Amino acid sequence: FTETLMDFTAKLNEKSKIKKVIGVVSGKGGVGKSLVTSMLASEMSRRGYQTGIMDADITGPSIPKSFGIKKKAFATEAGMMPVETKGGIKVMSINLLLQQDTDPVVWRGPLVGGTVKQFWTDVVWGDLDYLFIDMPPGTGDVPLTVFQSIQVDGIVIITSPQELVSLIVSKAVKMARTMNIPILGVIENMAYYQCHECGTRHTIFGESHIDTVAKEYGLELLARIPINTEIAEGCDSGNIETIETDYFHRTISKIENRK
Ligand code: ADP
Ligand code: MG
Repeated sequence: FTETLMDFTAKLNEKSKIKKVIGVVSGKGGVGKSLVTSMLASEMSRRGYQTGIMDADITGPSIPKSFGIKKKAFATEAGMMPVETKGGIKVMSINLLLQQDTDPVVWRGPLVGGTVKQFWTDVVWGDLDYLFIDMPPGTGDVPLTVFQSIQVDGIVIITSPQELVSLIVSKAVKMARTMNIPILGVIENMAYYQCHECGTRHTIFGESHIDTVAKEYGLELLARIPINTEIAEGCDSGNIETIETDYFHRTISKIENRK
C-alpha cells in the first residue's frame, strides 16, 4: 500500500536542495499549528540554519501575516520564488499568490492537494537545512495527499487540552504509520496560564491528559506551551520572529538529532 502511495511522490524542483522536511500537524484548526510552525522555524533560523516554511494550510493560510510579509511572490523561468522574512526565512503561501489575501479559498481537496504539490515541485527553495510544513488541519484526504506527494522526514503533532486528545493523537499516529513517517513527538499548546504575580500555573481548559496519551502511543511529549499574550500579539502584529522563548528547546534538539 505505502509503495503505491510513494509512486505519487513528486520530484523537488531542480534548483532546490532540502535536507530535512518537518511537518506540523493537528487534529483541527485553532490549536496553534501555525504558531508552532512559525516559532520553530524562527528558532532554527536564529541558530544559523537555512530555513523555509511551506504554508500548506491552503484554506486557512496565516504564515505571511505572523511574519508581517507585505510582498507577493513572483515567478521566474526557474519557478516561483519564495518571499523572505526579515530574518531570512523563505516562505511560500497561497496568500503570497492571491491579489487580496483576505480572499477566502474555498477549493475542494484535489485542488488544494495539487497546489501543495506545486509548492514542492515549482518553488525555487534553494538550499535549505530545514523546511517546515504548516499542514492542513485534520487527518483526512487533504493532509494525506500532501504526505503522498512530499517526502516528509518527521512530524510533530499539536494538541490542546480542550481537544479529544486521545482520538486526535490516535488518528495522527495511524496516518503517520500508514505513510511510514516518523513521529518526532507531541506538543501540547495552551496547556496552562502562568500568573505574572504569583507564578502559579492555572489550567484553563480543564485537566490535561497529555502525559497518559503520550505514554499510551509511545510518543515523546516535546513541549507544553502556556497561553502567552506576548506570542499572540507577536502573531497579530507580524513580529513572531522577534519573540524568543525556551518552549521549544527539546523539540529543536529532537529535530536536529534526526539523521
Ligand atoms: P492553527 O494554525 O492551528 O489554526 P494558530 O496557530 O493560528 O492555530 O492559533 C490560533 C490563534 O491562537 C492565533 O490567533 C494564535 O495567535 C493564538 N495562539 C495560539 N497559541 C497560543 C498561545 N500559546 N498563547 C497565546 N495565543 C496563542
Ligand atoms: Mg493555521
